[in-house]
Amino acid sequence: MHSEFDLVAHIRSRVAPRSDVVLGIGDDAAVIDVPRGQQLVVTTDTLNAGVHFPRDTPVQAIGWKSLAVNLSDLAAMGAQPAWCTLSLSLPESSQAWLDAFLDGFLAMAVQHQVCLVGGDTTRGPLSISVTAMGLVQSGSALRRDAACVGDDLWVTGNLGDPSAALETISAGGDAPAALRDRLDRPSPRIAAGLRLRGLAGGCVDVSDGLLADLGHICSSSGVGAEIELSLLPASSVLVGFDDALRWRHQATGGDDYELCFTAPAALRAKVVQAMDLAQTPVTRIGTIVAGQGVRALEPNGSQWQPLRMGYQHFA
Ligand code: ADP
Ligand code: MG
Repeated sequence: MHSEFDLVAHIRSRVAPRSDVVLGIGDDAAVIDVPRGQQLVVTTDTLNAGVHFPRDTPVQAIGWKSLAVNLSDLAAMGAQPAWCTLSLSLPESSQAWLDAFLDGFLAMAVQHQVCLVGGDTTRGPLSISVTAMGLVQSGSALRRDAACVGDDLWVTGNLGDPSAALETISAGGDAPAALRDRLDRPSPRIAAGLRLRGLAGGCVDVSDGLLADLGHICSSSGVGAEIELSLLPASSVLVGFDDALRWRHQATGGDDYELCFTAPAALRAKVVQAMDLAQTPVTRIGTIVAGQGVRALEPNGSQWQPLRMGYQHFA
Protein backbone atom coordinates (compact mmCIF):
# COMPACT_ATOMS: atom_id res chain seq x y z
CA MET A 1 0.00 0.00 0.00
CA HIS A 2 1.13 3.51 -0.73
CA SER A 3 0.06 6.64 1.07
CA GLU A 4 -1.56 9.52 -0.75
CA PHE A 5 1.77 11.34 -0.42
CA ASP A 6 3.66 8.47 -2.10
CA LEU A 7 1.20 8.53 -4.96
CA VAL A 8 1.48 12.29 -5.41
CA ALA A 9 5.29 12.13 -5.21
CA HIS A 10 5.19 9.46 -7.88
CA ILE A 11 2.94 11.55 -10.13
CA ARG A 12 5.25 14.51 -9.64
CA SER A 13 8.32 12.45 -10.59
CA ARG A 14 6.77 11.59 -13.95
CA VAL A 15 5.61 15.06 -15.01
CA ALA A 16 7.69 16.90 -17.65
CA PRO A 17 8.41 20.54 -16.78
CA ARG A 18 7.11 23.55 -18.70
CA SER A 19 8.91 26.89 -18.65
CA ASP A 20 5.86 29.01 -17.73
CA VAL A 21 5.04 26.88 -14.65
CA VAL A 22 6.60 28.79 -11.74
CA LEU A 23 5.32 26.30 -9.16
CA GLY A 24 3.76 22.98 -10.12
CA ILE A 25 2.84 19.95 -8.01
CA GLY A 26 3.99 20.22 -4.40
CA ASP A 27 2.79 23.51 -2.98
CA ASP A 28 -0.72 24.48 -1.86
CA ALA A 29 -1.49 25.70 -5.37
CA ALA A 30 0.23 26.11 -8.70
CA VAL A 31 1.67 29.41 -9.96
CA ILE A 32 1.69 29.97 -13.72
CA ASP A 33 2.93 32.80 -15.95
CA VAL A 34 0.15 33.85 -18.35
CA PRO A 35 1.37 35.76 -21.42
CA ARG A 36 0.15 39.33 -21.91
CA GLY A 37 -2.47 39.72 -24.63
CA GLN A 38 -3.81 36.20 -24.23
CA GLN A 39 -6.90 34.93 -22.47
CA LEU A 40 -7.08 31.87 -20.25
CA VAL A 41 -9.57 29.21 -21.41
CA VAL A 42 -10.65 26.79 -18.65
CA THR A 43 -12.71 23.59 -18.80
CA THR A 44 -13.50 20.63 -16.49
CA ASP A 45 -14.83 17.16 -17.23
CA THR A 46 -15.33 14.21 -14.91
CA LEU A 47 -15.19 10.56 -15.94
CA ASN A 48 -17.03 8.04 -13.76
CA ALA A 49 -16.44 4.30 -14.14
CA GLY A 50 -19.39 2.63 -15.85
CA VAL A 51 -20.82 5.95 -17.02
CA HIS A 52 -18.06 7.58 -19.08
CA PHE A 53 -16.10 4.44 -19.83
CA PRO A 54 -16.95 0.71 -19.69
CA ARG A 55 -15.60 -0.89 -16.52
CA ASP A 56 -13.32 -3.19 -18.56
CA THR A 57 -11.56 -0.22 -20.22
CA PRO A 58 -7.75 -0.66 -20.14
CA VAL A 59 -6.33 1.62 -17.44
CA GLN A 60 -4.00 3.36 -19.92
CA ALA A 61 -7.02 4.25 -22.04
CA ILE A 62 -8.81 5.70 -18.99
CA GLY A 63 -5.81 7.98 -18.47
CA TRP A 64 -5.64 8.96 -22.12
CA LYS A 65 -9.37 9.61 -22.43
CA SER A 66 -9.68 11.65 -19.23
CA LEU A 67 -7.29 14.26 -20.60
CA ALA A 68 -8.37 13.90 -24.25
CA VAL A 69 -12.02 14.78 -23.58
CA ASN A 70 -10.92 17.96 -21.78
CA LEU A 71 -8.52 18.95 -24.56
CA SER A 72 -11.42 18.42 -26.97
CA ASP A 73 -13.30 21.21 -25.16
CA LEU A 74 -10.24 23.46 -25.55
CA ALA A 75 -10.11 22.52 -29.27
CA ALA A 76 -13.74 23.60 -29.64
CA MET A 77 -12.77 27.01 -28.22
CA GLY A 78 -9.82 27.35 -30.62
CA ALA A 79 -7.44 27.34 -27.63
CA GLN A 80 -3.85 26.15 -27.42
CA PRO A 81 -3.70 23.66 -24.50
CA ALA A 82 -1.14 24.48 -21.81
CA TRP A 83 -1.84 23.15 -18.30
CA CYS A 84 -4.12 20.77 -16.42
CA THR A 85 -5.02 19.51 -12.96
CA LEU A 86 -6.07 15.98 -12.06
CA SER A 87 -8.45 14.98 -9.28
CA LEU A 88 -8.34 11.23 -8.67
CA SER A 89 -10.80 9.25 -6.58
CA LEU A 90 -9.44 5.71 -6.26
CA PRO A 91 -10.95 2.63 -4.53
CA GLU A 92 -7.45 1.59 -3.40
CA SER A 93 -3.94 2.98 -3.58
CA SER A 94 -2.07 1.01 -6.23
CA GLN A 95 1.09 2.28 -7.85
CA ALA A 96 0.70 -0.25 -10.69
CA TRP A 97 -2.74 1.16 -11.50
CA LEU A 98 -1.44 4.72 -11.21
CA ASP A 99 1.50 3.99 -13.52
CA ALA A 100 -0.75 2.51 -16.20
CA PHE A 101 -3.09 5.49 -15.84
CA LEU A 102 -0.19 7.94 -16.14
CA ASP A 103 1.15 6.10 -19.21
CA GLY A 104 -2.02 7.08 -21.05
CA PHE A 105 -2.60 10.46 -19.40
CA LEU A 106 0.96 11.71 -19.88
CA ALA A 107 1.18 10.38 -23.46
CA MET A 108 -1.77 12.64 -24.28
CA ALA A 109 -0.17 15.48 -22.26
CA VAL A 110 3.18 15.20 -24.07
CA GLN A 111 1.46 15.11 -27.46
CA HIS A 112 0.00 18.57 -26.78
CA GLN A 113 2.68 19.98 -24.42
CA VAL A 114 0.26 20.10 -21.52
CA CYS A 115 1.84 20.30 -18.06
CA LEU A 116 0.10 18.66 -15.06
CA VAL A 117 0.39 21.36 -12.37
CA GLY A 118 -1.68 19.98 -9.50
CA GLY A 119 -4.66 18.01 -8.35
CA ASP A 120 -6.18 16.02 -5.55
CA THR A 121 -5.98 12.37 -4.54
CA THR A 122 -8.72 10.76 -2.46
CA ARG A 123 -10.23 7.35 -1.67
CA GLY A 124 -13.63 6.57 -3.15
CA PRO A 125 -15.36 5.01 -6.18
CA LEU A 126 -13.19 5.28 -9.32
CA SER A 127 -13.70 8.77 -10.68
CA ILE A 128 -11.36 11.09 -12.54
CA SER A 129 -11.85 14.81 -12.79
CA VAL A 130 -9.58 16.89 -14.98
CA THR A 131 -9.40 20.64 -15.43
CA ALA A 132 -7.63 21.74 -18.60
CA MET A 133 -6.41 25.25 -19.28
CA GLY A 134 -5.33 26.80 -22.55
CA LEU A 135 -4.65 30.13 -24.22
CA VAL A 136 -6.19 32.19 -27.01
CA GLN A 137 -5.25 35.61 -28.35
CA SER A 138 -7.63 37.97 -26.55
CA GLY A 139 -11.03 38.03 -28.22
CA SER A 140 -10.37 35.16 -30.63
CA ALA A 141 -12.01 32.19 -28.85
CA LEU A 142 -14.47 30.14 -30.90
CA ARG A 143 -17.94 30.24 -29.36
CA ARG A 144 -21.31 28.56 -29.59
CA ASP A 145 -23.23 31.80 -30.02
CA ALA A 146 -21.76 33.08 -33.29
CA ALA A 147 -23.55 31.03 -35.98
CA CYS A 148 -25.39 33.02 -38.67
CA VAL A 149 -28.29 32.14 -40.97
CA GLY A 150 -26.87 30.91 -44.29
CA ASP A 151 -23.64 29.56 -42.76
CA ASP A 152 -22.38 26.18 -43.93
CA LEU A 153 -22.32 23.42 -41.32
CA TRP A 154 -19.18 21.32 -41.10
CA VAL A 155 -17.91 18.39 -39.08
CA THR A 156 -14.36 17.02 -38.74
CA GLY A 157 -13.43 13.34 -39.02
CA ASN A 158 -16.25 10.82 -38.99
CA LEU A 159 -19.11 10.10 -36.62
CA GLY A 160 -20.68 7.12 -34.92
CA ASP A 161 -17.86 4.62 -34.33
CA PRO A 162 -17.66 5.12 -30.53
CA SER A 163 -21.44 4.84 -30.17
CA ALA A 164 -21.50 1.63 -32.21
CA ALA A 165 -18.70 0.22 -30.02
CA LEU A 166 -20.50 1.17 -26.82
CA GLU A 167 -23.76 -0.43 -27.93
CA THR A 168 -21.99 -3.73 -28.69
CA ILE A 169 -20.14 -3.67 -25.37
CA SER A 170 -23.27 -2.77 -23.40
CA ALA A 171 -25.00 -5.80 -24.92
CA GLY A 172 -22.16 -7.99 -23.62
CA GLY A 173 -20.36 -8.35 -26.96
CA ASP A 174 -16.89 -7.51 -28.24
CA ALA A 175 -16.72 -4.47 -30.49
CA PRO A 176 -14.43 -4.62 -33.56
CA ALA A 177 -10.98 -3.26 -32.58
CA ALA A 178 -11.26 -0.25 -34.89
CA LEU A 179 -14.49 0.87 -33.23
CA ARG A 180 -13.34 0.08 -29.69
CA ASP A 181 -10.19 2.13 -30.25
CA ARG A 182 -12.27 5.18 -31.21
CA LEU A 183 -14.22 4.81 -27.96
CA ASP A 184 -11.15 4.30 -25.75
CA ARG A 185 -8.62 6.65 -27.35
CA PRO A 186 -10.28 9.75 -28.81
CA SER A 187 -8.05 12.34 -30.51
CA PRO A 188 -8.89 15.94 -29.62
CA ARG A 189 -9.01 18.14 -32.73
CA ILE A 190 -6.55 20.73 -31.43
CA ALA A 191 -4.89 21.54 -34.77
CA ALA A 192 -8.29 22.02 -36.41
CA GLY A 193 -9.57 24.28 -33.63
CA LEU A 194 -6.49 26.52 -33.88
CA ARG A 195 -6.87 26.86 -37.67
CA LEU A 196 -10.58 27.68 -37.38
CA ARG A 197 -9.97 30.93 -35.51
CA GLY A 198 -11.09 33.75 -37.78
CA LEU A 199 -13.06 31.34 -39.99
CA ALA A 200 -15.65 29.52 -37.88
CA GLY A 201 -18.82 31.16 -36.60
CA GLY A 202 -20.23 28.72 -34.05
CA CYS A 203 -18.16 25.77 -32.87
CA VAL A 204 -18.77 22.87 -30.47
CA ASP A 205 -17.17 19.49 -29.87
CA VAL A 206 -19.41 16.48 -30.42
CA SER A 207 -19.40 14.66 -27.09
CA ASP A 208 -23.09 13.94 -26.41
CA GLY A 209 -24.29 13.36 -29.98
CA LEU A 210 -24.30 15.59 -33.08
CA LEU A 211 -27.97 16.63 -32.88
CA ALA A 212 -27.70 17.52 -29.20
CA ASP A 213 -24.41 19.43 -29.52
CA LEU A 214 -25.43 21.20 -32.71
CA GLY A 215 -28.62 22.09 -30.83
CA HIS A 216 -26.41 24.02 -28.37
CA ILE A 217 -24.99 26.13 -31.21
CA CYS A 218 -28.54 26.78 -32.45
CA SER A 219 -30.00 27.80 -29.10
CA SER A 220 -26.98 29.96 -28.21
CA SER A 221 -26.99 31.65 -31.61
CA GLY A 222 -30.78 31.98 -31.97
CA VAL A 223 -30.85 30.04 -35.25
CA GLY A 224 -31.93 26.64 -36.62
CA ALA A 225 -29.98 24.01 -38.53
CA GLU A 226 -30.68 21.51 -41.29
CA ILE A 227 -28.41 18.54 -41.81
CA GLU A 228 -28.56 15.87 -44.50
CA LEU A 229 -28.11 12.41 -43.02
CA SER A 230 -26.62 11.08 -46.26
CA LEU A 231 -23.76 13.58 -45.90
CA LEU A 232 -22.68 12.49 -42.41
CA PRO A 233 -19.13 11.07 -42.62
CA ALA A 234 -18.80 7.37 -41.71
CA SER A 235 -15.82 5.07 -41.17
CA SER A 236 -15.31 2.08 -43.46
CA VAL A 237 -16.88 -0.11 -40.74
CA LEU A 238 -19.97 2.06 -40.26
CA VAL A 239 -20.57 2.40 -44.01
CA GLY A 240 -21.66 -1.24 -43.93
CA PHE A 241 -24.47 -0.60 -41.40
CA ASP A 242 -28.13 -0.18 -42.38
CA ASP A 243 -29.05 3.48 -42.92
CA ALA A 244 -31.26 3.84 -39.84
CA LEU A 245 -28.74 2.25 -37.49
CA ARG A 246 -25.82 4.23 -38.96
CA TRP A 247 -27.74 7.51 -38.68
CA ARG A 248 -28.63 6.76 -35.07
CA HIS A 249 -24.97 6.26 -34.17
CA GLN A 250 -23.75 9.21 -36.24
CA ALA A 251 -26.40 11.74 -35.33
CA THR A 252 -27.31 10.81 -31.74
CA GLY A 253 -24.44 8.67 -30.42
CA GLY A 254 -21.76 10.33 -28.34
CA ASP A 255 -18.07 10.25 -27.55
CA ASP A 256 -16.99 11.32 -31.05
CA TYR A 257 -14.91 14.32 -29.93
CA GLU A 258 -15.05 15.77 -33.43
CA LEU A 259 -15.66 19.48 -34.02
CA CYS A 260 -18.96 20.68 -35.46
CA PHE A 261 -18.75 24.27 -36.69
CA THR A 262 -20.34 26.83 -38.95
CA ALA A 263 -18.69 29.19 -41.42
CA PRO A 264 -19.95 31.64 -44.06
CA ALA A 265 -20.44 29.94 -47.45
CA ALA A 266 -18.04 32.51 -48.94
CA LEU A 267 -15.25 30.96 -46.82
CA ARG A 268 -15.81 27.40 -48.11
CA ALA A 269 -12.47 27.15 -49.91
CA LYS A 270 -10.66 28.69 -46.94
CA VAL A 271 -12.18 26.13 -44.56
CA VAL A 272 -11.07 23.25 -46.81
CA GLN A 273 -7.57 24.74 -47.04
CA ALA A 274 -7.33 25.32 -43.27
CA MET A 275 -8.41 21.76 -42.46
CA ASP A 276 -5.94 20.49 -45.05
CA LEU A 277 -3.15 22.34 -43.22
CA ALA A 278 -4.43 20.88 -39.94
CA GLN A 279 -4.38 17.42 -41.58
CA THR A 280 -7.98 17.01 -40.47
CA PRO A 281 -10.70 15.50 -42.68
CA VAL A 282 -13.73 17.78 -42.91
CA THR A 283 -17.22 17.34 -44.40
CA ARG A 284 -20.01 19.80 -45.15
CA ILE A 285 -23.19 18.34 -43.65
CA GLY A 286 -25.82 21.09 -43.86
CA THR A 287 -26.79 24.71 -43.37
CA ILE A 288 -27.76 27.16 -40.64
CA VAL A 289 -31.33 28.38 -41.23
CA ALA A 290 -33.71 30.87 -39.65
CA GLY A 291 -35.84 29.57 -36.79
CA GLN A 292 -34.84 27.15 -34.08
CA GLY A 293 -33.91 23.50 -33.55
CA VAL A 294 -32.08 20.96 -35.66
CA ARG A 295 -33.79 19.10 -38.51
CA ALA A 296 -32.16 15.98 -39.91
CA LEU A 297 -33.28 15.15 -43.46
CA GLU A 298 -33.38 11.69 -44.99
CA PRO A 299 -32.22 11.25 -48.63
CA ASN A 300 -35.89 11.50 -49.80
CA GLY A 301 -36.17 14.92 -48.14
CA SER A 302 -38.44 13.83 -45.29
CA GLN A 303 -37.60 14.77 -41.72
CA TRP A 304 -36.02 11.97 -39.70
CA GLN A 305 -37.49 11.37 -36.23
CA PRO A 306 -34.79 10.07 -33.87
CA LEU A 307 -35.74 8.40 -30.59
CA ARG A 308 -33.47 10.77 -28.73
CA MET A 309 -31.18 13.66 -29.65
CA GLY A 310 -28.17 12.58 -27.61
CA TYR A 311 -26.89 11.50 -24.24
CA GLN A 312 -28.31 13.06 -21.06
CA HIS A 313 -27.24 12.08 -17.57
CA PHE A 314 -30.55 12.85 -15.85
CA ALA A 315 -32.96 11.93 -18.65
P1 ADP B 1 -3.43 20.37 0.16
O1 ADP B 1 -3.82 19.46 1.29
O2 ADP B 1 -2.69 21.59 0.56
O3 ADP B 1 -4.56 20.64 -0.79
P2 ADP B 1 -2.48 18.04 -1.16
O4 ADP B 1 -1.79 17.15 -0.17
O5 ADP B 1 -3.88 17.71 -1.56
O6 ADP B 1 -2.36 19.53 -0.67
O7 ADP B 1 -1.61 18.10 -2.47
C1 ADP B 1 -0.23 18.36 -2.40
C2 ADP B 1 0.25 18.73 -3.76
O8 ADP B 1 0.08 17.65 -4.64
C3 ADP B 1 -0.51 19.90 -4.38
O9 ADP B 1 0.40 20.66 -5.15
C4 ADP B 1 -1.51 19.22 -5.26
O10 ADP B 1 -1.89 20.06 -6.33
C5 ADP B 1 -0.73 18.01 -5.73
N1 ADP B 1 -1.58 16.86 -6.08
C6 ADP B 1 -2.35 16.12 -5.26
N2 ADP B 1 -2.98 15.14 -5.93
C7 ADP B 1 -2.58 15.25 -7.23
C8 ADP B 1 -2.88 14.55 -8.42
N3 ADP B 1 -3.72 13.51 -8.46
N4 ADP B 1 -2.28 14.96 -9.56
C9 ADP B 1 -1.45 16.02 -9.55
N5 ADP B 1 -1.12 16.72 -8.47
C10 ADP B 1 -1.68 16.36 -7.31
MG1 MG C 1 -2.87 23.21 1.40
